[in-house]
Amino acid sequence: MIFFKKKLKELNTVIAGLQEKIFFLERESRKDQAILNSMIEGVVVLAADTRITSLNPTVEKIFGIDAQEATGKLFLEAIRNNELNELVSDVLEKKEFISKEISTVWPLKKHFEINASPILEDKEIRGCLLVIHDITEIRKLETMRRDFVANVSHELKTPLTSIKGFIETLLEGALDDKENSRHFLEIIRDHANRLDSLTQDLLILSSAESKEAQLDLSSIDLKELADKVLLGFKAQLKKKDISIRNEIPAGLTVQADSDKIEQVLTNLIDNAIKFNREKGWVRIYSEETHSKIKVGVEDSGFGIPEKDLPRIFERFYRVDKARSRELGGTGLGLSIVKHIVELHGGSVGLESTEGLGSNFFFSLQKHD
Ligand code: ADP
Repeated sequence: MIFFKKKLKELNTVIAGLQEKIFFLERESRKDQAILNSMIEGVVVLAADTRITSLNPTVEKIFGIDAQEATGKLFLEAIRNNELNELVSDVLEKKEFISKEISTVWPLKKHFEINASPILEDKEIRGCLLVIHDITEIRKLETMRRDFVANVSHELKTPLTSIKGFIETLLEGALDDKENSRHFLEIIRDHANRLDSLTQDLLILSSAESKEAQLDLSSIDLKELADKVLLGFKAQLKKKDISIRNEIPAGLTVQADSDKIEQVLTNLIDNAIKFNREKGWVRIYSEETHSKIKVGVEDSGFGIPEKDLPRIFERFYRVDKARSRELGGTGLGLSIVKHIVELHGGSVGLESTEGLGSNFFFSLQKHD
């Protein structure tokens, strides 16, 4: 009997130990799962025969699959991507780490960097671990930067080539031809002015875009600011006989960077005059809701074709390149507007009908 009791006690101790181990393993497994679930990267664990052991929610989203359904299936059955499947085969065969970039078109058009590692036990291959980083945004930014450099170079090259050409012509004898030499110098001056506007706009844009961009906030009276901006356009308005109304009510204020909002109004009013007809009109207005102040510049100008509307705030995007250049435009005015407004936490928008006119506006948060 005593022997039996002793054995029972021993058995209980073993059971208690086992329970503790099971609890420990369950806790560890929950911890691993929680880490996998919260990872931004996609993670897939495969056995040596490429059957899926586990995958996290990011992989579910990337490939539009369900973790429960996919688990236990062969990799290619669950994730129909040949490039990835080849990568898995290579890792299992060569037993070495491989990093590769792949693109998907379904369910989403994206770019990924895949880090694939063999899972080895005593030098035996036991499976493969895939870590998937979404690099779509990085690639997009790289393309944008490349396009931007190409655009800037092109914009600088055109006036520089002209300036060089006309200087050569003058040096080769045209200098003695009084009438023509003056005309050539005027062309050189116009191109130099274009280079000046372009570098100025590039500087404004880069300062608005920089992460360290600081806003010098103060309470600004919008009507007064718009009136001040309008003073600078007197000659332009007169030249095209354009009438302008500042309908912003007196005393309407926002907390904002005065110089920067002045730049926004300047660019919008400049466009409203530039792309307007003779004897046209421009209206500056505001609308107030309980949380926002909307300021708009409406014109009776050429308007913008519907197909160009979604891209109009992009850098260097112009409906009519030749016309914009002729009018002294750089193609950067609206992207400066967008950046400055977004720097203030606001948003920009427009309504436009080709041949009838445009209405550009921005909204700023109200502060009490
Ligand atoms: P820029 O005026 O120097 O060409 P912007 O970035 O200010 O560059 O404007 C981009 C393009 O948007 C212009 O070239 C023009 O085609 C179009 N645009 C802007 N404002 C107006 C407007 N008020 N009316 C018609 N078209 C406009």
